[in-house]
Amino acid sequence: MNDFETIIGLEVHAQLSTESKIFCSCSTEFNSPPNTNICPVCCGYPGVLPVFNQKVLELAVRVSIALGCRINRTIYFERKNYFYPDLPKNYQISQYKMPLGQGGHLALPEGREIRINRVHMEEDAGKLIHKEGYSLVDFNRTGMPLLEIVSEPDIKSPQEAFEYLNQLKLILKYIGASDCDMEKGSLRCDANISLRPAGQTEFGTKVELKNMNTFRGVRAALEYEVKRQTAALNRGEAIIQETRLWDSQKMASAIMRTKEEAHDYRYFPEPDLVDFFISDECIDKEKSFVGEMPLEKQKRFRSDYGLTEKDIDVYLLNPRLALFFEEVVRYYSNPREVSNWVLGPLLEQVNALKSNFETVKISAANFSKVVKYFHEGKLNNLTAKKALALSIETNEDIDEIILSQNLAQVSSQEELAVFVKESIEQNPKAVTEYYQGKKESLQFLMGQVMKKTRGKANPKIAKELLEEVLKNNRP
Ligand SMILES: [Zn+2]
Repeated sequence: MNDFETIIGLEVHAQLSTESKIFCSCSTEFNSPPNTNICPVCCGYPGVLPVFNQKVLELAVRVSIALGCRINRTIYFERKNYFYPDLPKNYQISQYKMPLGQGGHLALPEGREIRINRVHMEEDAGKLIHKEGYSLVDFNRTGMPLLEIVSEPDIKSPQEAFEYLNQLKLILKYIGASDCDMEKGSLRCDANISLRPAGQTEFGTKVELKNMNTFRGVRAALEYEVKRQTAALNRGEAIIQETRLWDSQKMASAIMRTKEEAHDYRYFPEPDLVDFFISDECIDKEKSFVGEMPLEKQKRFRSDYGLTEKDIDVYLLNPRLALFFEEVVRYYSNPREVSNWVLGPLLEQVNALKSNFETVKISAANFSKVVKYFHEGKLNNLTAKKALALSIETNEDIDEIILSQNLAQVSSQEELAVFVKESIEQNPKAVTEYYQGKKESLQFLMGQVMKKTRGKANPKIAKELLEEVLKNNRP
């Protein structure tokens, strides 16, 4: 038995989040009835001309910046020629010799960097729907804007491939370039894998894996392939360069075809499109959407704020919420408590309004008062939420709300004693039952106290007082 080293490279296709297709104005909406989002351009009628969607270029530039790529300032498209029933033009407009981005990298959580070979734009093909004995074709997907992101063969294990994909998805979503929804096919991944004896410098023969529909599927397919190739090499067999299809039901891959070479596609520059120049303005504008990468933010939120991983995950997917959280902490530096209120009551109320965070009007400074007053006992859980609800869409000052709504919590023993006494006197049945050992009666009496103070009683003090009075009056 020999020791082998695993070498993996990944090719990811991400659909960019634009409203229209890459070379025509057809909608990119998912789940439309078959062949309704189509036109002569994306269906490849003779004599029609493609028009490049600038939004695709902007998002592609944004991704290239986020992945630290060198951006080629003059780019052009090429035709990749092949026949397939879901490709009405018999060629795909893609980029070959002059991709948009080159030479980038992606950092894994443990700190290792995977080099990115290239980032290029291309159009998607249609979809075949196979039925019993016949197939149907849906061209809605033809011309969807795709970004192909190709890594260098730097990945050393199936688990590392899994981490690379998670990290890439996080970045693409974070910068708003793609929704990365694998169920909609917005993110697809092919893998190249080869093995070589430990210590050898030349690569072994690589096998391409396709048809993995989840990141776990990619990992499982790679694990299967490591085992298959290790066994073959140990038997002295040569690995054949081929494409294999993963079957997630059987948890096994099977040969699809032997690998085609690039020259089989007869690439040549697309004559219907001009060269495109990428301006400084475009790059500067897209840079402003990139900023701090998720991994850096994750580390910072851990060390600076001591938040839980669960909280941090929410902020990584919601950069604006994260920004709000940080602003609030600047006014009231109790990060955990602030986070509890941002991800708890604030989001609950946003959801209840059937709204989104963008419509929230309450300022960070004003919101910080809700958290602070709750922490100090000036507001209880109920009144703090009420004050928040009154300010969330207006940014009305929390101090003024407390005054006008008379929300300040009643914590004074003397004041509470009056309400406790009344509650006991007016509910003799509950009191008797309490003395007979019925625990719920205490809750009932507490409820009466809360009701009398219109929800403003400090629950902790009120409960202590109630228990004390009941104990002293025990018959
Ligand atoms: Zn179209």
